Amino acid sequence: MYFPGDYHLHTTYCDGNSTPEEMIAAAISLGYESVGLSGHSYVWFDDGFGMTAPEAYQAEVLALKEKYRGKIDIYLGIEQDVFAERPAEGYDYIIGSAHTIVCGGGYITVDYTVEKVTAGVREYFGGDWQKYVKAYYELAAEIPKRTGADIISHFDLVTKFNKGGRFFDEESREYKAVVYEALKSAAAGCRIFEINSGAVNRGYRSRVYPAVFILKALKELGCRIILSSDAHDSGSVGFMFDEMAEMARECGFKSAVHLTPGGFGEYSLI
Ligand SMILES: [Zn+2]
Ligand SMILES: [Zn+2]
Repeated sequence: MYFPGDYHLHTTYCDGNSTPEEMIAAAISLGYESVGLSGHSYVWFDDGFGMTAPEAYQAEVLALKEKYRGKIDIYLGIEQDVFAERPAEGYDYIIGSAHTIVCGGGYITVDYTVEKVTAGVREYFGGDWQKYVKAYYELAAEIPKRTGADIISHFDLVTKFNKGGRFFDEESREYKAVVYEALKSAAAGCRIFEINSGAVNRGYRSRVYPAVFILKALKELGCRIILSSDAHDSGSVGFMFDEMAEMARECGFKSAVHLTPGGFGEYSLI
């Protein structure tokens, strides 16, 4: 089916492998009418993800916007972490994310490596994964407040290394209750949530974010969805959009959000 664009893309300005122009070229070759770049904000505990030169990033994307005018609409975005060093200013849109729990004088970046996460849960949560998961969702609930998000990213990122429920049970009533509570708070501040294929794309897991039960809850809450590849290289732009659209339809969504010159618009998924 037809997709108008992909708006969660990383470049060499943060931890991506392709330049902004290479990402844009990929979007053009997919026939998109628009594309958005969304560099990671810088955080004080940066592990090499964040943009160290956001001004240069902004200047380059704005220049590319002009260069490609009439060919593709380019939007200047940022993936703003809840612990971003400075507020996101001068962007067309903000994707809000929680990647890291700061606790006990240290931190755990929930999507970094399974070794680091396991060690962190041991050190800061006494090995109690429930407590860790709860701390994550308490933070996720605050994404709109802390980031000014227009879009909330991978809401259940904390499940990244939990394949097969190896650390905690994603089917349990306790887990789902924690998620619902966070989702309700987050949805009160931001109405657009991603379906995000980033972790599948990079081989970490077999399902996209978020889980089906979360998508269904979002539908019930009257929220809207946006399809995102979270691509870190030009070959991954638009990754799994057909599958994500199918998943959205199965959860009752008839449309998805895209960016237009007049703001956020919707296109049909049917
Ligand atoms: Zn992210
Ligand atoms: Zn991202």
